[in-house]
Amino acid sequence: MLRLPPFAYHPAASLEDAVGMLARYGWRALVVSGGTDLFANMKQRLFTPEVVVGLRPLRELSYVRASEGGVAIGALTTLTHIAEDPVIESRYPALHEAVSVISTPQLRNMGTLGGNICLDTRCNYYNQDYDWRRALGFCMKKDGQVCRVAPKSPTCVAVNSSDSAPVLIAYGATLRLAGPEGRREVPAAEFFRNDGMRPWCKRPDEILTEVRLPALPAGTRAAYRKLRLRNAIDFPILGVAVMLQVEAGVCVRARVVLNAVASKPVEVPDAAAALVGTDLNPRALDEAADAAYAAGKPLDNTSGSIPYRKRMLRVFARRALAACAPGS
Ligand SMILES: Cc1cc2nc3c(=O)[nH]c(=O)nc-3n(C[C@H](O)[C@H](O)[C@H](O)COP(=O)(O)OP(=O)(O)OC[C@H]3O[C@@H](n4cnc5c(N)ncnc54)[C@H](O)[C@@H]3O)c2cc1C
Ligand code: SF4
Repeated sequence: MLRLPPFAYHPAASLEDAVGMLARYGWRALVVSGGTDLFANMKQRLFTPEVVVGLRPLRELSYVRASEGGVAIGALTTLTHIAEDPVIESRYPALHEAVSVISTPQLRNMGTLGGNICLDTRCNYYNQDYDWRRALGFCMKKDGQVCRVAPKSPTCVAVNSSDSAPVLIAYGATLRLAGPEGRREVPAAEFFRNDGMRPWCKRPDEILTEVRLPALPAGTRAAYRKLRLRNAIDFPILGVAVMLQVEAGVCVRARVVLNAVASKPVEVPDAAAALVGTDLNPRALDEAADAAYAAGKPLDNTSGSIPYRKRMLRVFARRALAACAPGS
């Protein structure tokens, strides 16, 4: 049985208290929300913080509420809360779909949106216990020097595995952060970086406090389709988020975002270009799915072979597109 390493747990009395503790303890501290990812990673000695700052007491960061025509979601809101929210289900169906297929009901009851967005990137050579990794000689992301997946790569290529991330980018969401230097907002599309070891623009002493979904024009349609080995529990080995805006039967705006094929969600402008200006006929959808296929480059660091995940790119992109264009 894997056991947690020793650490001090400090529940935050307020957001300011949490920010203050991160500033005070620096790299020795990490925050925890639901703990469904952090504690597993600590058991594997991927993280060994001396201090864990508990955000769970900050109930004021748990909400889904109307905001500026859109919706604001507190970072401490559980995935179950979001999956069961009727406004999210009817107005932001892709987010509803994405959070509804994260792990298991038990983990969704504990796991939060903030923790999901700040989920560590994953890799078959990294998400292993200490002895497994030591036997292999470790890797660049933790305790070692080289990347086992791409030995010549100067950076880690572990994959973004957060199901909400591609959807938030597709919707044009904004993330709110609080840190010792104050508060700031970052578009979701700019939050994620293509670096498996530093996958966000968030500084270590910043806390994600809120996600803002914009007001959506009439005629907006969106969907998320996820491939995983076992539908009852697994992380994505591929995800496709689509957002389309249709006016008088013509697509005027489109976003197609792939997940689990790089360290950040990958937006595919060529897929959007294949859709805009069309009536979303089957040929346009096929072209957009082809563009997604061309853009996605899965690596050998999740379950499922590279050729399988590559082939599934076109299939899942086409399914997500079809969900937004009924009849095509
Ligand atoms: C068996 C299993 C299956 C899973 N399947 C999936 C899946 O299919 N899809 C998926 O997306 N995830 C999956 N997960 C991962 C995880 O359960 C979810 O991503 C969950 O939403 C994480 O939220 P949390 O609150 O538990 O995060 P925590 O474990 O509390 O934190 C995760 C990370 O985020 C940081 N963090 C947490 N909250 C904040 C905040 N507000 N601001 C800044 N940093 C923060 C923590 O320091 C930590 O590094 C799975 C996990 C397990 C164990
Ligand atoms: S991609 Fe390479 S460096 Fe990153 S976790 Fe995997 S093996 Fe390690």
